[in-house]
Amino acid sequence: MESAEIARRFLRFFEERGHTIVPSASLVAEDPTLLLVNAGMVPFKPYFLAQQKPPYPRAASVQKVVRTLDIDEVGKTTRHASFFQMLGNFSFGDYFKEQAIPFAWELLTRPESEGGFGFAEDRLWATVYLDDDEAVDIWHGKVGLPLERIQRRGLADNYWHMGVPGPGGPCSEIYYDRGPEYGREGGPIADENRYLEVWNLVFMQEQLATVRNKVDFDISGELPAKNIDTGMGLERMAAILQGVDNIYEIDTTYKILDRAAQLTRSRYGRDNRGDVSLRVVADHMRAGVMLVGDGVLPSNEGRGYVLRRMLRRAIRNLRLLGAGEERYMHELTAVTIDALGEQYPDLKADAANIHTVIDAEEASFLGTLRTGTAIFDAAVEETKRKGRAVLGGDQAFQLHDTYGFPIDLTLEMAAEQGLQVEEEGFRRLMQEQRDRAKADAAAKKTGNADISVFTSILEKSGRVDFLGYDHIVAEAG
Ligand code: ATP
Ligand code: MG
Ligand code: MG
Ligand code: MG
Repeated sequence: MESAEIARRFLRFFEERGHTIVPSASLVAEDPTLLLVNAGMVPFKPYFLAQQKPPYPRAASVQKVVRTLDIDEVGKTTRHASFFQMLGNFSFGDYFKEQAIPFAWELLTRPESEGGFGFAEDRLWATVYLDDDEAVDIWHGKVGLPLERIQRRGLADNYWHMGVPGPGGPCSEIYYDRGPEYGREGGPIADENRYLEVWNLVFMQEQLATVRNKVDFDISGELPAKNIDTGMGLERMAAILQGVDNIYEIDTTYKILDRAAQLTRSRYGRDNRGDVSLRVVADHMRAGVMLVGDGVLPSNEGRGYVLRRMLRRAIRNLRLLGAGEERYMHELTAVTIDALGEQYPDLKADAANIHTVIDAEEASFLGTLRTGTAIFDAAVEETKRKGRAVLGGDQAFQLHDTYGFPIDLTLEMAAEQGLQVEEEGFRRLMQEQRDRAKADAAAKKTGNADISVFTSILEKSGRVDFLGYDHIVAEAG
């Protein structure tokens, strides 16, 4: 079953059950607490927070999301993409778990010939929050899932909130058993690689008064109107339904991976390192193209930096695959637009612009790499000659300051050489530079301030101001 068909089926199923179909919002979040949309519920947050009255009692969507928190997993696990699509059904004070759970079960197990996904019942497992007996009763009593395939988990895994006072509640996750070749038995608690999480159902039922962290908060009472927020991973569903090993091998991603292998004359499936690189390239091309399609431009901060990091990691991994000085991003962008074009026709209309942005980033980064890599190699050699395992903070700073090497590139390249980086020293030098810039600016203020100098310094030092991508804890559903 093609990815586009999975999306269609999901929406049709919920449309037939009274849900209003809402188109995906842009990846660029309207929500000021968030850089990029990282869950299907984000566009509906004002309804859940009771800031706005929902125009419909129930909705369904296929939302584009980017999760930079998962970047380091990409290509290494079978199931983490940086850009993916979340299929979701939502209830705003309308139905609750007694309907949400049976909906999910019905869609997953209904035969393909009847519009469902045709999963064998005995492959499905569910987790619930420790004391959510209601959910167990529905899973077992109403749906018929055997108790042995229902596992209870604590706050860290099965309780959801937004990291701020507001709605929260237990969740129930649905897992598909991929079989013994994927790991040990014992359900999702034992092995989340074998038991692939496909769908998370969040039951917003409580009001949180204070939230100290993910697992430490005070509940002030029950919500007057209870909500449902669910998130199903389209790419994970596709991996199962297309019978492939991992989400990088599904229809819309494999085309890109395969083209990257052809271009670099490498072969997928030969060795793990090369395979990880090919998956990273395919994954990051998707994220890069989708971000540019939503109007993001590469820059040194915020979402522009997320995009830059994706594109640069793709380019670096192409070089690890043997690309040398050759420029392959144009071709790969074209394949990506083509692969995602059926679901996102705007990409095709916007192709010229997307190419311009990505080609320019490639040209500039190849220049940076050319000069910086020689300096980096010399620093590595010196470090190893001295019998050390840590690259100096001053060297990382020089790479950054003079050659424009972002710190995470230095960290990544050092790790490939089995070296660490003295990050603390690096950050101290960055801080000193910032302080100098401030002092200079203050001095200038008394005279005729030349703002351009100041901003150019700020822009430079801005590169490491960047501490995280996602500002709130809300990641479920
Ligand atoms: P995991 O535990 O596997 O990291 P999660 O619990 O963080 O997933 P949720 O926040 O519950 O994921 O998101 C809802 C659904 O989105 C998941 O059930 C999964 O199907 C999908 N999903 C989450 N993260 C990713 C990702 N990085 N790539 C692809 N699909 C994902
Ligand atoms: Mg996760
Ligand atoms: Mg999970
Ligand atoms: Mg989850």
